[in-house]
Amino acid sequence: MRVTTYASHSALQILKGAKQEGFETVAFGTGRVKPLYTKYFPVADHFIEGTYPEEELLELETVVIPTGSFVAHLGIELVERMRVPYYGNKEVLKWESDRSLERKWLEKAKLRLPRVYDDPDEIDGPVIVKPHGARGGRGYFLAKSPADFWEKAGRLGIRDKEDLSEVQIQEYVVGVPVYPHYFYSKLNDELELMSIDRRYESNADAIGRIPAEEQLGLELNTNYTVIGNIPVVLRESLLMDVIEAGEMVVKTAEELMGGLWGPFCLEGVFTEELEFVVFEISARIVAGTNPFVHGSPYSWLRYDFPVSTGRRIAMELRQALGEDRLGEVLT
Ligand code: AMP
Ligand code: AMP
Repeated sequence: MRVTTYASHSALQILKGAKQEGFETVAFGTGRVKPLYTKYFPVADHFIEGTYPEEELLELETVVIPTGSFVAHLGIELVERMRVPYYGNKEVLKWESDRSLERKWLEKAKLRLPRVYDDPDEIDGPVIVKPHGARGGRGYFLAKSPADFWEKAGRLGIRDKEDLSEVQIQEYVVGVPVYPHYFYSKLNDELELMSIDRRYESNADAIGRIPAEEQLGLELNTNYTVIGNIPVVLRESLLMDVIEAGEMVVKTAEELMGGLWGPFCLEGVFTEELEFVVFEISARIVAGTNPFVHGSPYSWLRYDFPVSTGRRIAMELRQALGEDRLGEVLT
């Protein structure tokens, strides 16, 4: 059995981790990035050009590790139909890609979520408006009153309440971003906290570099295009909050969609009241795990050798092979 993933996002870490666990590795993607995975960072034993070279992957007897890029580049429909064995539960895809299903899941897990406004005329504080299908925060805008909302929404062609199905209006929660990365081992029925990051976003992290006086004149719109990730170590008394949130998400996933296993991430902010408010879940490895190729403070507390999330996935596959339980973790 070989381990494969799409050449972007967290592929370096996934393939490195697979090699550490003794697997042969395969990357696929655009020809331009081949040297990244085979020469500069020699983590891929094979590189296949193509968006999704199914026949070759089947021939190589690979297991695909899904990433944000893999799902984004292929689209959910293709992923649901793919024949190459997939690590994780494909049922989860529709739950996390549909904002209302995702909310149902997180509500059932009793997480603190931002309030959602169905009627913009009820806006009574700062809100963040998210067009459906907008990724990585592009197209989001902030508003502070009904009038402000209608003015900004008008620029996107949203002129009356009929058009509102295209956006979700969320309470803007003031807090610092904290993205805990988890790994739920289905084989051992155990949740692990792997690492934590915050994102480095353009232009959200750039605006503070401009003096306030000049910001006003520039009429900048905040957006959140991810450029990189920064490690975070959490105040220790907050760790149980984060762990309990992860446990609840796993438990409710069992009830709603037959389980969530492998890596996942809760994306949220911690407020000044020390409350973890979650606005999104990513039900697979997130690129925020990339600073931890050599493990994180949390993985180091659990394992006495360097364990990245990529390596943790490979450890699970290795265990599944040894116990003849691959069928339980692949779909
Ligand atoms: P890419 O392959 O870089 O085009 O990324 C595909 C998807 O993954 C996009 O939705 C990105 O926003 C997301 N993504 C890629 N890299 C990161 C990162 N370092 N942190 C957070 N999200 C990322
Ligand atoms: P997302 O695309 O949902 O990951 O959001 C992109 C960025 O928008 C995040 O990194 C947060 O900084 C910010 N954000 C999203 N939702 C909220 C919210 N409800 N309150 C405050 N900030 C948010």
